[in-house]
Amino acid sequence: SADVAMYHAKESGRNGYQFYSREIHEQAIARFSLENELKDAIENNLLTLVYQPKVNLCDGSVSGVEALVRWDRGEHGAVNPADFIPLAEETGLILPLGRWVLREASLQMQAWIDGGVSPLVMAVNCSSVQFTRSDMIADINEAIAYSGLDSRLLEIELTESLLLQDPELGIRILRDMKALGIQVAIDDFGTGFSSLSYLKRLPVDKLKIDSSFVKDLGIDSGDVAIVSAIITLSHNLNLSVVAEGVETQQQYDILHGFDCNEAQGFLIGRPMPAEEFERWLLDYTQTGLKKASGL
Ligand code: C2E
Ligand code: MG
Ligand code: MG
Ligand code: MG
Repeated sequence: SADVAMYHAKESGRNGYQFYSREIHEQAIARFSLENELKDAIENNLLTLVYQPKVNLCDGSVSGVEALVRWDRGEHGAVNPADFIPLAEETGLILPLGRWVLREASLQMQAWIDGGVSPLVMAVNCSSVQFTRSDMIADINEAIAYSGLDSRLLEIELTESLLLQDPELGIRILRDMKALGIQVAIDDFGTGFSSLSYLKRLPVDKLKIDSSFVKDLGIDSGDVAIVSAIITLSHNLNLSVVAEGVETQQQYDILHGFDCNEAQGFLIGRPMPAEEFERWLLDYTQTGLKKASGL
């Protein structure tokens, strides 16, 4: 990192500056080549989507699915979004990437429906950069028209950052999305510190409680209080609420006890490639549902 480079620069005395600048130079080249590689991956269809289920806590039924992007870098292996979404946001590559994700996820759900799968809501993550730097409404319309998916089956997950950056723009875009009939969820809720008075004005359908609060449910009484407060708040505002990162039966039971609407996490199902998700869905509807309802 730059700090390490600076340290070396100081340590190596007179030649230090040279070392430092070479280090920075190498970093810039590495970044530039990664950027080009990502651009190439978007253009040549080297990105894939994996699908993670969400279940309804009332009856254990599958309530929806979230599309999550993956980048297969060949010999380097699969790269997770945390390692390339920030780069995509800084370089603007998030715009073509985001359009591809929207289209691919919509096409996949419509293909499942055409193949006889019961319709599920497909959730797609969108970066605030997509909202501020492109016409998201046009992109969403395009994905719906291209796939033929019922707009009510599309859900956009966005983080509080968009709403914090430019609340008025955020509200306008949310209204336009609602007018299209799509669902809107606030992802990672509780980490962005949006003002509560502002929350009541937001035309959203759902809050997703960030996994950091779910992680220690049952261990940390502070997290129990936060999760229960978010659930109560959501219901009082007529919003549906989802908990993400549910890994244990204990967390699941606590959320169920608090009347949380939906749960998502490794306990229920990991993000899976499309065919694996199809097998998971068949298996879950045959066995998982019976387990959840105690039959
Ligand atoms: P997110 O939308 O909050 O997604 C949840 C992340 O937690 C996913 O990581 C998922 O694989 C992981 N996860 C799900 N259940 C569990 C669990 O029980 N335990 C643990 N430890 N982790 C769980 P992933 O796929 O690496 O994605 C990370 C983030 O990258 C996402 O967070 C989202 O903000 C972003 N992202 C993913 N796909 C896209 C995309 O297509 N577009 C945009 N703009 N962002 C994306
Ligand atoms: Mg999400
Ligand atoms: Mg999330
Ligand atoms: Mg998250």
